[in-house]
Amino acid sequence: MAKNVTLKINHIPVTVPEGTTILQAARKAHVEIPTLCYLKDVACVGSCRMCLVEATGARGLVAACVYPVAEGMEVLTNTEKCRKSRKLSLELLLSKHKKKCLSCERNHNCELQRLSAEYNADEDKYAEEEEEFTHPIDLSAPYVVRDRDKCINCMRCVAACNKQSVGAIGAIGRGYNVHIASAFEMPLAASVCVGCGQCIVACPVGALKERTTVDEVWAALQDPSKKVVFFTAPSVRATLGEAFGLPVGTNVEGKMVAAIRRLGNCEVFNMDVTADLTIMEEASELINRIKTGGVMPMFTSCCPGWVKFVEQKHPEMIPHLSTCKSPQEMFGGLLKTYYCEKNGIAPENLYVVSVIPCTAKKSECKREEMGGEVDAAITTRELARMIKTAGLQFSELPNEAFDDPFATATGGGTIFGATGGVMEAALRTAAKMMDGAFEVVDFPEVRGTAPIKEATYNVAGVQVRVAVASGLSNAEEIIRGVQSGERHYDFVEIMACPGGCVNGGGQPTLPDSMRNSLELKDLRAKALYKSDKKNGYRRSSDSPVIETIYGEYFGAPNSHKAHEVLHTHYTADKRL
Ligand code: SF4
Ligand code: SF4
Ligand code: SF4
Repeated sequence: MAKNVTLKINHIPVTVPEGTTILQAARKAHVEIPTLCYLKDVACVGSCRMCLVEATGARGLVAACVYPVAEGMEVLTNTEKCRKSRKLSLELLLSKHKKKCLSCERNHNCELQRLSAEYNADEDKYAEEEEEFTHPIDLSAPYVVRDRDKCINCMRCVAACNKQSVGAIGAIGRGYNVHIASAFEMPLAASVCVGCGQCIVACPVGALKERTTVDEVWAALQDPSKKVVFFTAPSVRATLGEAFGLPVGTNVEGKMVAAIRRLGNCEVFNMDVTADLTIMEEASELINRIKTGGVMPMFTSCCPGWVKFVEQKHPEMIPHLSTCKSPQEMFGGLLKTYYCEKNGIAPENLYVVSVIPCTAKKSECKREEMGGEVDAAITTRELARMIKTAGLQFSELPNEAFDDPFATATGGGTIFGATGGVMEAALRTAAKMMDGAFEVVDFPEVRGTAPIKEATYNVAGVQVRVAVASGLSNAEEIIRGVQSGERHYDFVEIMACPGGCVNGGGQPTLPDSMRNSLELKDLRAKALYKSDKKNGYRRSSDSPVIETIYGEYFGAPNSHKAHEVLHTHYTADKRL
């Protein structure tokens, strides 16, 4: 166990474990030291120089985010020397920053803007010529937009991408010309980027954002020839409230539905329904593979960031991926076939909008094999913007229910939004399919935000070995273990984003002060598990909506028709 050390922060004693940084110790003393490059769980490079403080025993100012505490140390975080240094750093950053604040998405939610105001930094002190801000904006990818002229070179995005074991972006050039780019300055779409958007949520300014399709959705809502339907992913209800100042972990399902309904003439469906449908198909596929000696272990395929990672980096693992489409694409298929046929709607007149926590799903719906069944995929952030543009007072809205016939889903569908949720939902249904007397619905071993979780269950005399990983570096570890023969599983759930979709690249961007002090992933996931527990239906196979869908349309899981609409195939990336 680490030894404790006692030091003073701004004259107040504080005791922390040895090895703690001054930044962490200061937080224990309720002192926030400003940072621009540091981000908990993501980046700690000490490059922005915003966290400089005075400390006894050190020569000059030290970077609090990397400098360790020592017994008897006295730290001063708010001296004139510190403030002057921070102000200078900000003014130098502002000299190279395209200051288009008024229309910037991050206006009022930008760390550079906030600190510049707090330190009274002069944005024009070292102003560049306007011509300096003419680098082309990278619009090559359907999910992310990169504006180099707003970048402050904090490197958080690079750290986030490296943490994903992708390494699509890095620092290029030297000294004054250093900037962030893909290898050989190629457009992001031509790089190895998998679209997870972890770089976007790490960025402290507006240099990275999602490629928005909000204007197309507004146009469809105004078009009398279109019937517009929205469906919302499981995790969105657990995060949307944050964009309206509600505490992290507040479930706003009812208000979210009410808000979407007030955006225009549309219906609002629950994507948890196709999460249930995914489970029906995936559990059946798993059992089939176990019984027939199919390719094992089977990996989940509901995360398009993970699927792209396999296609690009590990095409040899493609046969291990379940052939099930993601809940987003299952919903698109279901709406453009079953729902259109049932309601006499021409598929081209149905405009389908999915609301997702994810940037990768923006490119997923553009994949050729998905047939364009989802017309627009908007992130939680984009939905929040639409609600604000429509002038809706979100917190004052009533709680309303989703529209039938896709309103009712099970708790198994809801927990899809957190790491381990797909696995638990699949286990609930697969175990029941294998052994009709199996009644257990809680599988706590696969819950929580640990990077890798493993468990073995005995179902109908069969040992089912499972693993759950979130974050692509953990996925990489699982793949290496499976390929080397060190790890043995039957079924593996992988989510590209650390913690799963609750921490997706399309989720609200919160201020550093919250990101660095709260356990966002856990708080958001808790909201989903709470909802699961309250649901009268916990197991996907118990859903009355699922029963109707199979009864009226697909017949049975993995039927020929189900395969036509609900399954897909994958393609090895040709660049490798
Ligand atoms: S979207 Fe993900 S993979 Fe692509 S650059 Fe950002 S962090 Fe890297
Ligand atoms: S794009 Fe954003 S996160 Fe990346 S270096 Fe620039 S400012 Fe930092
Ligand atoms: S974990 Fe969820 S949010 Fe992240 S890429 Fe996968 S599907 Fe998208």
